Amino acid sequence: MSTILVATEIRQGELKSINIEVFTAAVKIAKEINLTTTALLSGKNAASLAEIPAKYGIENTVVVEDAKLEKYSPDCYAAAIAETARQKDAKVILMGATYTGKDLMSRAAQILDTALAQDCTAYRVEGGALRFTRPMYAGKVRAEVRVASSPVMATFRAKTFKPEENPVTAKVEKLTLSLPEPLTVLEAIETAAAGKLDVSEADLIVSGGRGMKDPNTPEGKENWANLEKLAELIGAATGCSRPVSDDGWRSHDEHIGQTGKTVSPLLYISCAMSGAIQHLAGMSSSKCIVAINKDPEAPIFNAADYGIVGDIAQVLPAMIEEVKKLKARD
Ligand SMILES: Cc1cc2nc3c(=O)[nH]c(=O)nc-3n(C[C@H](O)[C@H](O)[C@H](O)COP(=O)(O)OP(=O)(O)OC[C@H]3O[C@@H](n4cnc5c(N)ncnc54)[C@H](O)[C@@H]3O)c2cc1C
Repeated sequence: MSTILVATEIRQGELKSINIEVFTAAVKIAKEINLTTTALLSGKNAASLAEIPAKYGIENTVVVEDAKLEKYSPDCYAAAIAETARQKDAKVILMGATYTGKDLMSRAAQILDTALAQDCTAYRVEGGALRFTRPMYAGKVRAEVRVASSPVMATFRAKTFKPEENPVTAKVEKLTLSLPEPLTVLEAIETAAAGKLDVSEADLIVSGGRGMKDPNTPEGKENWANLEKLAELIGAATGCSRPVSDDGWRSHDEHIGQTGKTVSPLLYISCAMSGAIQHLAGMSSSKCIVAINKDPEAPIFNAADYGIVGDIAQVLPAMIEEVKKLKARD
């Protein structure tokens, strides 16, 4: 029987949470269009994770541990997706819309000579065909698209689906593929500070803009210290706008927006950001947006669910005090 293939991304020996979200999506879609489900785990030690997909209802797991996948090579990993899809008769291929997922899936789509719906935030089935919702034009519109070629390929934005445990008996198969010689190989990677929450995976984000001021000034130093304090208290990741990372005030891995990371947390607290369209492109699908800005006319308030008009130097300490009081009550 034909299948839905979920291509996964293994980072530092672990399956990122977005993979689990896509497993849940695949199981739901498979029921609606009558396909089986298959997860592809590729790379060094992939077999050690082989039991995980079945916990989330994925019926078959394919493990590919080729020597050419020891180091990350986008062309080889994309070829592994395409070749597995061919061998397993995949009618649909899904992956998380991370940087890597978007890159690999476009390469795999090119190998399979099919089309790809990137960065989707929803799907529905009409007349047996899948339709995907994609934010377009920096989030100004939502388009509904149908991939008319086969296999249908799509990537889903993080936090689009809530992982649902649904254990089935794991059927694990080791697959040997004929992979091309790698053209590009990743030799080294600089990782973010240990323990730091990644914005694209966080449920809660506290994010700062240019109005927070340069952290090398006393005012800016205090504002950013308060932002970090609030994030720590509520267990949130910290994010920022592009000028903030361009100026080196915060590290580039916190940059959110059209040219940075796309996030969809449950709560996004925007501190002293104007709400430029390029920033909104990366965070407007957040479930709840709280904006703090001293200018009542700031465009961010049009996107916000809750707005606080005030100076960040006063609002952040007040919020910290309130959170401390709430935590003391628990
Ligand atoms: C091609 C292109 C791509 C881009 N990609 C991105 C992207 O990916 N991400 C991104 O963020 N931007 C991106 N930009 C830049 C974008 O257009 C904006 O310039 C940027 O988002 C503005 O950042 P900001 O809101 O931090 O700063 P500003 O626009 O300068 O806003 C600062 C805000 O802080 C408020 N403020 C000031 N002081 C205080 C205070 N004491 N208390 C409370 N509020 C205060 C001000 O009222 C103001 O609204 C891109 C631009 C281009 C042209």
